[in-house]
Amino acid sequence: MDHFDWSLPIKILDHGYIRLVDHMGSDDSVERSARVSYSGDKTVRSEKETKGLLRYLMKNGHTTPFESCTLTFEVKAPIFVYRQWHRHRTQSYNEISARYAVLPNEIYVPSKETIGKQSKLSKQARDIDNPNAIDYSELQMLSTVSELMRAHSVSCYKLYEKLIKYEVPRELARSVLPVATYSRMYTTMNLHNLYNFLRLRLHFHAQYEIRQYAKVILTIVRDLYPISTKAFEDFIISDKESFDI
Ligand SMILES: Cc1cc2nc3c(=O)[nH]c(=O)nc-3n(C[C@H](O)[C@H](O)[C@H](O)COP(=O)(O)OP(=O)(O)OC[C@H]3O[C@@H](n4cnc5c(N)ncnc54)[C@H](O)[C@@H]3O)c2cc1C
Repeated sequence: MDHFDWSLPIKILDHGYIRLVDHMGSDDSVERSARVSYSGDKTVRSEKETKGLLRYLMKNGHTTPFESCTLTFEVKAPIFVYRQWHRHRTQSYNEISARYAVLPNEIYVPSKETIGKQSKLSKQARDIDNPNAIDYSELQMLSTVSELMRAHSVSCYKLYEKLIKYEVPRELARSVLPVATYSRMYTTMNLHNLYNFLRLRLHFHAQYEIRQYAKVILTIVRDLYPISTKAFEDFIISDKESFDI
């Protein structure tokens, strides 16, 4: 089967994207690592046996064979998304430095459809996934909210530009930019830690914005590691009520 060219950026939110930069390994690599346990050999196995083994590993938490696959992504996302992403210590990151470079005028503004309302059930959540939480008349108000956020980001960026013009050091000038400002990073992770990231960031408890990135990553690993990822979906994130898939 032809694979989609995942090295092309997939657009996310208003200015963000994710693209696959590099990857190593396949379902076969997972199987090879696992079979060494009993001096087994990968090459003589049927697809049914591969499936059976990988599903057994996933179901029973025998996770190290999944670490034999590695992926690197380029991610462009708002800084507040990175604040959450960078909590995943088992990934390796390199991010643009606003001490070296002037950040472009790209600041995330949520559309009125994705603002939602502060959840009454959860202190950390917003009611965006529940269509009954917002009535049609409130959409006009949310449109105003979106415009207010846009106006604020425009004025922040104007001040940033002015400070740069006055030769204020870039490392200080950046402090007037909001956390919705876009940044760019490369992140590398192995497949086991990536599944942990997806388990946490596809959950409806995770913020809407980071979920959009997690969803694209899930699509990519479904394509690259189909047997492992099917096992992950069947055994780890099968509860459709809890996961945004
Ligand atoms: C919905 C949601 C809400 C959150 N809210 C908050 C919040 O309010 N405040 C906040 O600070 N964070 C919050 N977090 C971040 C969360 O606590 C984790 O830091 C983040 O999800 C990374 O998960 P992790 O530790 O499993 O990932 P990784 O850092 O990638 O670690 C993977 C696994 O490696 C092991 N590991 C890694 N480092 C260590 C270590 N030093 N010691 C022991 N074991 C280790 C653990 O088993 C861990 O599960 C939230 C996360 C989610 C998904």
